Amino acid sequence: MKFLSDILVASLLFFAFSLQGIDINRTNIEEISEQRTLSIIKPDATAKNITGSINARFEQAGLKIIAQKRICITQEQAGKFYAVHREKAFYDNICKYMSSGPIVVQVLQGINAVLKNREIMGATNPANAAIGTIRRDFGENIEHNAVHGSDSEENAAIEIAFFFSSLELID
Ligand code: ADP
Ligand code: MG
Repeated sequence: MKFLSDILVASLLFFAFSLQGIDINRTNIEEISEQRTLSIIKPDATAKNITGSINARFEQAGLKIIAQKRICITQEQAGKFYAVHREKAFYDNICKYMSSGPIVVQVLQGINAVLKNREIMGATNPANAAIGTIRRDFGENIEHNAVHGSDSEENAAIEIAFFFSSLELID
């Protein structure tokens, strides 16, 4: 009988340690997927004075704004930022538009921040964006769509460096 209860205790201890092991692994995965992404509140949204409402969406979703500034950029600077779209029909218009009024550039940090931000933003065209997303609620049309968000971790690093020095990122 004593032998059986020893086996039972040993099994329970093994099970408990296994569970702990799973938790440790999960924590590691989460640490690895902590990311930063570049967000821009576009001229249509700054004109409506809704930067606070948009920031609240990020914070409610667990993203932390670790850098933020309200600036104006020239059409030439917008052209450099959107250089990947150089060949697209909408390139000139988006560059003119992004330099037509103040924008708020910001760095968001959190678990899977790149994808999470894209989900909070919604589809490029507000008409196709899911209910409850920023673009659905605040965007006007496919060009004036309230926010920009990096589309990959690699591009996020490039876009963050376009607007911020490492000293300006306050974790
Ligand atoms: P997203 O901002 O969703 O990543 P894209 O990278 O494809 O979308 O495009 C960059 C920006 O250019 C969009 O957010 C939008 O403001 C503008 N844009 C994209 N497609 C069009 C289009 N067909 N007509 C006008 N403007 C567009
Ligand atoms: Mg894009």
